[in-house]
Amino acid sequence: MSSSLPNSRPVEADVLERIKKIVGPKGCVTDPAEIEPHCVSWRDNWKGWVPLVVKPANTAELAEVVKVCAETGTAIVPQGGNTGLTGASQPHDDGSEIIVSTSRMNAIRDVDLANDTMTVEAGCILQSIQSAADEHNRLFPLSLAAEGSCQIGGNLATNAGGTQVLRYGNTRALVLGVEVVLPDGRIWDGLRSLRKDNTGYDLKQYFIGSEGTLGIITAAVLKLFPKPTDVQTCFVAVRDVAAAVELLGNARAIVGDQVTTFELIQRYGVEMTVRNVPGVVDPMEQAHDWYVLMEIAGQGAPGTLAADVEQCLAQGFEAGIVVDAVIAANRAQAQSMWAIREKIPEAQNHEGASIKHDVSVSISRIPEFIDKACERLDAAFPGCRPVAFGHVGDGNIHFNIGQPAGTDGEAFYKLYPDVNKVVHDLISQMNGSISAEHGLGRLRMHEAERYKSDVELDVMRAIKTTLDPGNIMNPGKVVSIARPEAPDV
Ligand SMILES: Cc1cc2nc3c(=O)[nH]c(=O)nc-3n(C[C@H](O)[C@H](O)[C@H](O)COP(=O)(O)OP(=O)(O)OC[C@H]3O[C@@H](n4cnc5c(N)ncnc54)[C@H](O)[C@@H]3O)c2cc1C
Repeated sequence: MSSSLPNSRPVEADVLERIKKIVGPKGCVTDPAEIEPHCVSWRDNWKGWVPLVVKPANTAELAEVVKVCAETGTAIVPQGGNTGLTGASQPHDDGSEIIVSTSRMNAIRDVDLANDTMTVEAGCILQSIQSAADEHNRLFPLSLAAEGSCQIGGNLATNAGGTQVLRYGNTRALVLGVEVVLPDGRIWDGLRSLRKDNTGYDLKQYFIGSEGTLGIITAAVLKLFPKPTDVQTCFVAVRDVAAAVELLGNARAIVGDQVTTFELIQRYGVEMTVRNVPGVVDPMEQAHDWYVLMEIAGQGAPGTLAADVEQCLAQGFEAGIVVDAVIAANRAQAQSMWAIREKIPEAQNHEGASIKHDVSVSISRIPEFIDKACERLDAAFPGCRPVAFGHVGDGNIHFNIGQPAGTDGEAFYKLYPDVNKVVHDLISQMNGSISAEHGLGRLRMHEAERYKSDVELDVMRAIKTTLDPGNIMNPGKVVSIARPEAPDV
């Protein structure tokens, strides 16, 4: 997928020269072979082109680059690890933009253990932040499969979710302050490490989740947490999806917010992972329709929470909502349970074409959503194979629709808009979200415009045009705004 911007023209050579001078040879990528990976998405479904990728060494340099872009009407695609899934981190294909990558800005500026905070630059890889927290006997709980490549600036810009949102919240909840280069090149130093600050609008929240359309995040103050010392993981077969929701409520009644993970997995998900990914095994002898991967974590000596887990499962058996369960005896067993959940997307690639959705509804309505969606999809596209999995604990279901067995994958992909419409119309009727954690980017921008009210879209456009009147920050992503003609330079 690719698309051109309205009213755009290739970046002028003299503008490129001015920008190159600011960052110097170390901060410029001009070789097309090195530029290319920056222009292609992880799933290879978005491709564009830029004449220049810049990698500023620090905030001041980055701000100078943005000033030149603002003056000349040159559009910028901010980029972190380029693992985003919505086409927001890749440029359009007309050469009218440059990529500004934060990859060289990767210092940990400060660790304040008494305040439980860490101040990091945007280009820090998520995994390196987790490790740095660990070295200080703390937890930075943001965790997702792309953590070895994605950068914290990208995590903030997408308000990433991941596997521990139930306990710790999404990225938005893990940030106390940010430093941002605004679309006019000014630096806003909002690097506060305060847990209480009611001095007007909470400006950092505009930039978190804005997918690079309002400014470039250059640093952030992150919250740290005590490292859990007791982790209990179990794989539970449940009667149905409603039983999974009931089990979550029961578990929370027993251990409160120590439930850190509660992931729903369908039988087909287990089958295809075991079939397609070497090393993945079904932990149960008998097959069941629905499973939950549950993790409970807290402080105290290892094993302290085991009795609570057993109580929760025993209650579940008695109430008929749990039909089988395996508790991991050690970390290796826990990891092998996690592998089933984490390898579902990879396994589905082996099963042919699939049309993916990342939706959310209130937790109480998850069973209704899955039932109705499967029914409507089967009526419209007989034989299609929906796979529902994901973060039941925060109402977020990844709902991937596989092509009917033995049919033509390309033909199924052509049904993309029709399949989306069935799923997203239902989500909208149920007051849910068509993008729970991946964002809108280009993938869902126009769909969001279909489902959001005029009032909401007006407010979004007002924020965008106030902060970025020239529409140079990642144009054509998140919310559509006609891009003004670039000024003559
Ligand atoms: C295997 C895999 C698993 C994933 N799992 C999850 C998951 O569980 N949960 C989830 O939420 N996402 C998930 N993602 C999506 C992706 O990893 C996240 O969106 C991640 O937060 C993006 O970080 P990044 O550094 O790669 O950002 P990029 O892809 O480089 O950029 C993403 C967006 O942020 C903007 N941006 C990047 N850096 C900045 C900055 N410094 N300032 C302003 N804007 C910026 C870009 O312009 C773009 O709009 C997954 C992706 C993959 C490939």
